[in-house]
Amino acid sequence: MQIFKFGGASVKDASGVRNLTEIVSNHGQSKLAIVVSAMGKTTNKLELLVKQANEGMDYQDTLSELKEFHRNIVKELMEEAPERYLAFEDELERQLIGISELEANIAYDRIVPFGELMSTSIIAAYLGNYTKCEWVDARSIIRTDQYFSEANVDWVVTERQVTERLLPVVANSTVVTQGFIGSDVEGHSTTLGREGSDYTGAILAYCLGAEDFTVWKDVPGILNADPRILDDTEQYNNLSYREVTEMTYYGAQVIHPKTLKPIAQKSIPLIVRSFLDIEKTGTTIASDQTGKTIPCFVFKGNQLLVTAQVKDHSFMDEKKLGLILQVLDLLNIKINLMQNSALTLSFCIDNKEFKSKRIKELLNRDFLLSFESPLNLATIKNYTPDSFNKLPWNRTVIMEQKTPNNYQVLYR
Ligand code: ASP
Ligand code: MG
Repeated sequence: MQIFKFGGASVKDASGVRNLTEIVSNHGQSKLAIVVSAMGKTTNKLELLVKQANEGMDYQDTLSELKEFHRNIVKELMEEAPERYLAFEDELERQLIGISELEANIAYDRIVPFGELMSTSIIAAYLGNYTKCEWVDARSIIRTDQYFSEANVDWVVTERQVTERLLPVVANSTVVTQGFIGSDVEGHSTTLGREGSDYTGAILAYCLGAEDFTVWKDVPGILNADPRILDDTEQYNNLSYREVTEMTYYGAQVIHPKTLKPIAQKSIPLIVRSFLDIEKTGTTIASDQTGKTIPCFVFKGNQLLVTAQVKDHSFMDEKKLGLILQVLDLLNIKINLMQNSALTLSFCIDNKEFKSKRIKELLNRDFLLSFESPLNLATIKNYTPDSFNKLPWNRTVIMEQKTPNNYQVLYR
């Protein structure tokens, strides 16, 4: 049994769907389930659509653009639009009516899943002409809690549903299902967080005990830096689960951060390879570590540095540190870098306005707060002496940290 995941970029147009069909049709003998995202930038479009509808604005143009985009792809691929696709178009329109009554997060999860539902309806219809396949509604498989727009998986129910509903189908046909979506105990749609389709693939790989999980991307594999930022990047042939987990922790956008845990638990190899160049073998992530790995560079922009200073000339002691960390935990904020001194704690986080407002509200009483943004954070994992030369800019260093393996610098 194998799992393939195709992201939005791989199915952004009709030729993408044809390419997917070729990859799937030629994959070999083993049983296969494919997890597919919304087409191209559809999820962004749906986010706009639900925002407009939820805030009582006119959304008709956005809706028309969305339909036209899909219908153009359909037109290139087949004579008539698949019935399932048309049914989802209708259902989307119905759901939009009255969406302004709902809380924003709940509204989001009612509307945004249509991207995946529509894309897989089209793809399953087309793929069906070449290979025996079956469309499966991921919402009948992936059970989550009601933490809408960032839902958490209920593993017990999900595993049972995979065994009861997916296993019998995948035994006889290639399964086509949606990434990123699930449903709660009341049957309402939920989403797993942006870029969550990787995670769906990992959940299925885990529950089905797959022999491997392949993520088809528009890059040849995992690179040691974002090629839009550094030019002489290198590709990894092999990486350990641990290495990749750490890379995602520092912000490398190689794979959805929750993907690694389930597949590492069952030692299922994760393969990242190119749907543009299927001769290349890509990067394999598995347990074995192959010697020392080359330095990996991660850059994060739009960082906010918060400095909290004690007010009463006491120290920034453990109690006060604990208080600040509790507040950050409560607000679901991840610290990207931090440093303390006698009177202060400075920490760097992703810059989101509503979060800094809440930090102010909750910490103002006990601390003098100062904020600086936008800053940049660079991380070199497994640095070597000459890797520092690759940080090329005339930067003003704000904060810096070095451990035996990693170097991080926050700069203006
Ligand atoms: N379509 C969703 C997104 O764009 C999920 C995914 O692509 O993984 O975030
Ligand atoms: Mg995507």
